Amino acid sequence: MKAIVGTGVSGLSAARFLQRCNERFVLFDTRDLPPNRALIAQEFPGVHCEFGQWDQALLNSADEIIVSPGVPISMPALAKAREAGVPLVGDVEVFCRHARAPIVAITGSNGKSTVTTLVGKMAEAAGRCVAVGGNLGTAALDLLNESVELYVLELSSFQLETVSKLGAEVACVLNISPDHMDRYDSMPAYHAAKQRIYYGAKKVVVNRTDPLTQPPLAADVERVSFGGVADFKNMGTVDKDGELWLAEDLKPLIPASELRIVGRHNVDNALAALAIGKAAGLPMIAMLEALRAFSGLPHRCEWVAEVDGVGYINDSKGTNVGATLAAIEGLAQAHGKLVLLLGGVAKDDNFRPLLEALKRHARAAVVFGRDAAIIEKSLAGYSALEREAGLLPALAKARELAYSGDTVLLSPACASFDEFDNYMARGETFKHWVKEAAND
Ligand code: ADP
Repeated sequence: MKAIVGTGVSGLSAARFLQRCNERFVLFDTRDLPPNRALIAQEFPGVHCEFGQWDQALLNSADEIIVSPGVPISMPALAKAREAGVPLVGDVEVFCRHARAPIVAITGSNGKSTVTTLVGKMAEAAGRCVAVGGNLGTAALDLLNESVELYVLELSSFQLETVSKLGAEVACVLNISPDHMDRYDSMPAYHAAKQRIYYGAKKVVVNRTDPLTQPPLAADVERVSFGGVADFKNMGTVDKDGELWLAEDLKPLIPASELRIVGRHNVDNALAALAIGKAAGLPMIAMLEALRAFSGLPHRCEWVAEVDGVGYINDSKGTNVGATLAAIEGLAQAHGKLVLLLGGVAKDDNFRPLLEALKRHARAAVVFGRDAAIIEKSLAGYSALEREAGLLPALAKARELAYSGDTVLLSPACASFDEFDNYMARGETFKHWVKEAAND
C-alpha cells in the first residue's frame, strides 16, 4: 500500500496516477476538514482517508509515502515513518520514474513561471509535442502521456526536497534570493534544496551573474550560461548602435525593445529561456518567434489601466523581496515615479534591500495587511511611507498620493493569505478596483 500525504493539487494527481496503475493507497491530511473532501469522495470512492489525527502504525505500514510539497518532510509523523524505514518521495520523483521523454527542469527564486511558459511556447513553435506544468498549472503526474516528446517542468524548492535523482535533459536554477525563510532554517538550506535540480542532469543552464546558481558538479557536464553581458558561446546582451540587444555568442539576435514583457528582469528571463531552449536543441528561429509573441503571464508586472493620468500595474505574484526589487528596478525607467503597494504575510522580516530602490524610484510606499508593522519597521529611514489596514484602503491612499505620469505598482513582497485565498485573488481584486475607477 502507498500513502499519499496532502490532498491538494499534487496529492490528488498522485492519487489519480495510482488509481490508473491499480495500486492501493491511503490519503492523509493534517486538516480535519481538507477543502477537497467532496472531490475525493467522488473521484476515489472507498479509499481510506486519515484526516486530522493520523494512525501512525498505518502510515508506517506503507511501502512508500508520497509527500505533497506543502507538507514539510520534517513533520514528526513523517520523521517517525522514515525512522521506521519507509521511503519518502514526492510526486516529481514518481513522475521521473515513468516519464519516457526528456525533461527540462526549471527552478529559481523568481521568474520560474515566466521562463517555463516561454520555453514551452518555444518548443511548441518548433513543432514539438510538449507538456508544460509541475509547480505551474497542471501537476507533473497529470502530464504523463506516451505522445509527449518533451516535458517542461517548473519545480519549487519544496518539490525538489523530495527528489533524489531527477536526471533532467536540461536543468536550470534561474537565480537565488531569500524566499520561504518561514520554512527553511537558513539560506544554505534553501540553496541546497534548489541545487537538487542538478542531480543527474545531462546539461545545466546557469546564471553568470548569480554564483549561487552554479552546480556542484564535475566539469564534464555541458553548461550554457546566460545573463549580464554577452559571452562567447552563451546568451547575454550587447549594445548595437546604442540599443540593447539579446545576443548569442556575441551576435545580436533581437532588440530588447521588441520584447513585449517589460523590465530588465524580463530580459534575463528571455535570455534564460533562450539558453534552456538551446540546450534542449530547439531551433533559434522558432525560439525568437515565440519570444516576440509572448506578452507575459497575468499578475506578473501586468499593465491594467490608466486612471487620471496614473498607470496601474499588477505584480501580485511579486511575493518576496527579490521579486519586488526586480519589479521596481525593471519598471522605474519607463513608468515615471512609482507608488508602491507593499504588504500581506511576510515570509521574512527583512525588507531593507528595498530601501535604496524606493528612495531612487518611488514617490511613496503604502504598506498594508497583517505584517504592515514589520515592513514599516524594516524600512525605517524611508519617510514617504503610509500604513493602511488592507489592500483596498491602501489602493485608495495610493491614488491620493500619485501624480499624473506616476505608476501605482502592486508588488507586495509578501504572501496574500491574510486577506485572500492566493496571489491571483489579490491581483484580481486590484484589477477590478482599477477598472472600476477607470470607468468612473
Ligand atoms: P515564480 O514562478 O518564480 O514566482 P514568475 O515568473 O511567476 O516567477 O514571476 C513572479 C514575480 O517575480 C514577477 O512578478 C516579478 O516581480 C519577479 N520576477 C520575475 N522574473 C524575475 C527575475 N528574473 N529576477 C527577479 N525577479 C523576477
